[in-house]
Amino acid sequence: MRAGPLVEIKKLSMTFHSPAGEIKALGNISLEIMEGEFVSIVGPSGCGKSTLLNMVAGLIKPASGEICINNKTVQGPTSLVGYMPQSDRLFEWRTIWKNVLLGLEVQKKVDKHSRGYAEELLTKYGLYEFRNSYPSQLSGGMRQRVALIRTLAINPELLLLDEAFSALDYQTRLVVADEVKQIISRENKTAVLVTHDIAEAISMAERVVVLTKRPGMIKNIHHIALTCSEKTPIKCREALEFKDYFNKIWKELDVHV
Ligand code: ADP
Ligand code: MG
Repeated sequence: MRAGPLVEIKKLSMTFHSPAGEIKALGNISLEIMEGEFVSIVGPSGCGKSTLLNMVAGLIKPASGEICINNKTVQGPTSLVGYMPQSDRLFEWRTIWKNVLLGLEVQKKVDKHSRGYAEELLTKYGLYEFRNSYPSQLSGGMRQRVALIRTLAINPELLLLDEAFSALDYQTRLVVADEVKQIISRENKTAVLVTHDIAEAISMAERVVVLTKRPGMIKNIHHIALTCSEKTPIKCREALEFKDYFNKIWKELDVHV
């Protein structure tokens, strides 16, 4: 059975002040994310999706409202949260192993135990034999898996994925999304995926949150229940109900504006 919410977003708003004037990026977002849940957030470009993730990660302070993780107000970045951006941000001059250790080095947490866990992740997810290779020797999909393992190596409870697959070509993207979902469930993590890809959002998540255009507000939340033989994102796309969710969310996103 699942415990209570891991993340509580309470009446969150954000306004940016720039020389050109004020930009209201988010308006009054309230959302709870349960432990172990996978939530997707979709919304039109510029509606504040990255801003929202940055605030959950403690990188931006909200203009008003509050975010709590494990009942504690977020006041800055912590090792509770792992962030996976759009580009894999691997360092080309470091080996895969050195890249995987990077997050731990930054947090000064390299020890026998954490190295052991990183090694275990590399082995489990088929990258151990590449530990001495350099990123340029790996395919885009493998690089993305390395980026995920680097994020997981710090053992965060919550993973934030910001358009994490958009840099990949379509085929690779499907496979990597499948792998990432599998890894996240096996490692018992809670995850929030931000994407503008409706199909990706539905196939990966238990809930899809639809945001309005800027300033982003919650337009609707869909509980995804798909009948499929295997609960993998690729198989989920074949479910009968998939298209219904897709059409509903498509209409809500109002892409013609
Ligand atoms: P999304 O990720 O949904 O595409 P963002 O969260 O990146 O949207 O941005 C939301 C809005 O806030 C955009 O209009 C963007 O230009 C603006 N914005 C984002 N970051 C800043 C910033 N640091 N300063 C000023 N405006 C910003
Ligand atoms: Mg963004």
